[in-house]
Amino acid sequence: MKEKQTFSDLRVDARIVEALNEQEITEPTEIQAGAIPRAFEGKDVIGRSKTGSGKTLAFGIPIIQELLDKNGKGVRAIILSPTRELAKQIEDELILIAKKSTVQTALIYGGVAYEPQFEAVKTADIIIGTPGRIIDHIERGTIQLEEIEFFVLDEADRMLDMGFIQDIKKILEKTPVHKQNFFFSATMPMEARELAESFMHEPVRVNATDIYVNNAQLEEYYIDTLKLTKADTLRYLIEKEKPKLAIVFTNTRLFADAVTKYLQKHNIRAEALHGGFAQNKREKIIESFAAKDIHILIATDVAARGLDIEGVTHVFNFEVPGDEQDYTHRIGRTARAGNKGVAITLLEPEEHRDFSRIEGDSLRNIKKYPDNYFAKKEYLLERRNNTHPRNNKRPQRRRNT
Ligand code: ADP
Ligand code: MG
Repeated sequence: MKEKQTFSDLRVDARIVEALNEQEITEPTEIQAGAIPRAFEGKDVIGRSKTGSGKTLAFGIPIIQELLDKNGKGVRAIILSPTRELAKQIEDELILIAKKSTVQTALIYGGVAYEPQFEAVKTADIIIGTPGRIIDHIERGTIQLEEIEFFVLDEADRMLDMGFIQDIKKILEKTPVHKQNFFFSATMPMEARELAESFMHEPVRVNATDIYVNNAQLEEYYIDTLKLTKADTLRYLIEKEKPKLAIVFTNTRLFADAVTKYLQKHNIRAEALHGGFAQNKREKIIESFAAKDIHILIATDVAARGLDIEGVTHVFNFEVPGDEQDYTHRIGRTARAGNKGVAITLLEPEEHRDFSRIEGDSLRNIKKYPDNYFAKKEYLLERRNNTHPRNNKRPQRRRNT
């Protein structure tokens, strides 16, 4: 049997190894084992691996190691991330591994006040943030990137999907030609490849193929439903599956809010999470979910992108996502770190076609959910006869009229 590899084997500094071990991170993942040594050689790296495979540390360790003994001299690294939540997760992880050093980070994203950010960037060695606000700071002269040594694009595919291409180019223009570039992504569509080629210097490509969807750990199902009975079906699944923590995905904020209201009305501890909320509200919601005060989170793709919360037992797709990539990102919120997970997609008749395409692209066989109360005739008749409890309520008085 192959000996277990350690971070020390990769020549990671003892201070970082110690901090990692305190987090019970002892064995590099495939993308880390592939990327870290090449990064130490000073190479540009294009890293591709699935969500949850440890990409943050694959670029984070080399940067922290370089700055361990020469920090405090202005901004040395910039890490671009598609969303505020992801930027924050990156920062949290870097702070943990930089614990035995004085490396400073600054988190820069929009929707919050500028003043604390002005202070943070003054002492920062590493800036992590979303493109828009970083450009604001560059234009105000409060962030200068002329001297940086590292430029990182994290979740590059997602950044392109979100239309950040021009912003990325604008930021790149403000950076020196001689710097080390890292480009990390779960997928490599053509646009991403072209962007990487446009600024990277003889990049080394690291493809980690470790399959994160472990069939033994993740059960994937679909269930047939109708528009009319979809919310009831979801509630039924929640009552039957009894998830400890679940994320329900919708394609729009509007649906996220509507599903949340429906579940709350049925006394299920649910909250919506989407880009329509202020940053501090989103953070509070994520915190209460992680603390299990809320047990169902109803989220849009962007809001839940990369969320790494332990103990998510179920993912429900209330609507079929746009493509296999989004599907994979969604179901990747569960069955993490060797835990079991269940993913169930609710399908209206007209969603079947899109779902078949996703299933085909995923190369997996997604099973039909074994029990479907809401497709049964008794239930449908009950609804038709208005005997369903939901239709038996007294009419509500209209407010404010
Ligand atoms: P990705 O960016 O590829 O989606 P992350 O970098 O966010 O993945 O890592 C996912 C989770 O795995 C994080 O909670 C991280 O702390 C953890 N992790 C990363 N590397 C390791 C490792 N070598 N061993 C154990 N856990 C790890
Ligand atoms: Mg990531």
